[in-house]
Amino acid sequence: MLIKTSKDEIESYLVDAANIKGNCNALYIPGNEEEIIEVIKSANLEKTKITISGGGTGLTGGRVPSEGILVSTEKLNKIIELNKEAGFVIVEPGVYLRELNEKVESQGLFYPPDPTERDCFLGGTIATNASGARTFKYGPTRNFVEEIRIILADGEILNLKRSECFANGNILELKTESGKLLKVELPKINIPKTTKHAAGYYIKENMDAIDLFIGSEGTLGVVTKIKLKLIKKPANALSAVVFFDSENSALNFIAEARELSFSNGDNESGINATCLEYFDSHSLQFMKEDLPNIPDKSKAAVWLEQTYNSDIEEKLLELWFGLILKHDGDEDNIWFASDKSELEKFKQFRHSISVKVNEYISGKNISKVGTDTSVPHEKFKEYLDFMKREVESKNLKYVIYGHAGDSHIHLNMLPNNDEEFKTAKLVYKILCKKAVGLGGTISAEHGIGKLKKEYFIDMFGEKQIMEMAKIKKVFDPNLILNFGNLFNKEHFSL
Ligand SMILES: Cc1cc2nc3c(=O)[nH]c(=O)nc-3n(C[C@H](O)[C@H](O)[C@H](O)COP(=O)(O)OP(=O)(O)OC[C@H]3O[C@@H](n4cnc5c(N)ncnc54)[C@H](O)[C@@H]3O)c2cc1C
Repeated sequence: MLIKTSKDEIESYLVDAANIKGNCNALYIPGNEEEIIEVIKSANLEKTKITISGGGTGLTGGRVPSEGILVSTEKLNKIIELNKEAGFVIVEPGVYLRELNEKVESQGLFYPPDPTERDCFLGGTIATNASGARTFKYGPTRNFVEEIRIILADGEILNLKRSECFANGNILELKTESGKLLKVELPKINIPKTTKHAAGYYIKENMDAIDLFIGSEGTLGVVTKIKLKLIKKPANALSAVVFFDSENSALNFIAEARELSFSNGDNESGINATCLEYFDSHSLQFMKEDLPNIPDKSKAAVWLEQTYNSDIEEKLLELWFGLILKHDGDEDNIWFASDKSELEKFKQFRHSISVKVNEYISGKNISKVGTDTSVPHEKFKEYLDFMKREVESKNLKYVIYGHAGDSHIHLNMLPNNDEEFKTAKLVYKILCKKAVGLGGTISAEHGIGKLKKEYFIDMFGEKQIMEMAKIKKVFDPNLILNFGNLFNKEHFSL
């Protein structure tokens, strides 16, 4: 096992993509699962805090330690088995999502979860229940996780298979590989009425045990093996970036495309989007610095994609074109992808705005002030108007983009100095509160980590957070794993 203590060697691990910074005594890089168990057991005995690192692309400081040691999963990077006939893949947690995509697609298979940034580890995507543009059609990572193997804080191993172990009402009983019994009492939690939600543990009566661990942000154990469901790769994809002269037109277009997609169910010969991503006028201006072919007059854009298998390209083009014209889309400025490289370019187009925001904030040496809120569809327009009013009333520079198909949009504030940063944080709090008031969530996909605890408390209240913290205590009584993610010290006093 590699152990690094020199500041120069570990510095790049002490930050994530949201520019949250931390500190630790040493970085451990285990070469296999046995070494992970060895590190965990000894840390548990000494009550040393351990933070788990994946690819470091997280946006909430989850992998950033504040004390103790950091354990990187980068050497557990094997694709163990790819079974084309049965449609699954078994991987170690340090495999890059990008690598998995390339491998399975070369076999005619497809892994839908796509958290925009593909240089993340699969372990990180399980820990955060990552989702992305295609979540609109396929749901989040959770929907594709069939089995996981988890190392608990005392070195015990849990093997969890979907549909094998369920809670009985609000009591969940689990047995480790060595036969140790663990009993969890599931609290009653207010669940938002959104299509995406990633704030805190997934808790439901009679739930499948595996779901408690997916999205638990490394607070319950270390994921060391993952079995993922794969589907057949769709034969064709229609993809376009459509520009609009008004934001309202773009939003109305998305709303109708969403309705049609829902009502068409599995029917691929009608409008049935895989993703519906939105860019406001500020985003287009921001991106234009690198992409000068964005039309000057455009006030909004939508990236849409629909996959299909039969020979219906002409019919689909006609349907989409009709909908674009109905909502005053700029027919002279539609970028259609005609081959794989152009499909890839559109993914890059979407990726580039997130990267530019992250570069901006690290250039200013501040942490990200970007919302991850979502609301029920019927409240989306009201929420978006509220967001814009709030941020504009404070004269802050901002961009709005993201997963509008899921009524989940990122408003990223771009403060220019410390004072603006402080104002942006205040606006952020107001926006979280409003989302919750509308039946929404403060985090639809990035999770809570260390960055969003204040708003997590605002959303659930101290009592429900303390009930959730009791679950962590069952699996990690000494509170060594990813301490500081989700909970504060005082949340463990129940
Ligand atoms: C440009 C950009 C765009 C993004 N867009 C999206 C998006 O659209 N949707 C989305 O969901 N996310 C998005 N993200 C966030 C990020 O990519 C995801 O959260 C990703 O899943 C994190 O994976 P990682 O390997 O980088 O994890 P890290 O950042 O290393 O860690 C994330 C969390 O997972 C824990 N963890 C990591 N590995 C394990 C393990 N093996 N066992 C237990 N815990 C573990 C860490 O301790 C930490 O709490 C984006 C990030 C960037 C930079």
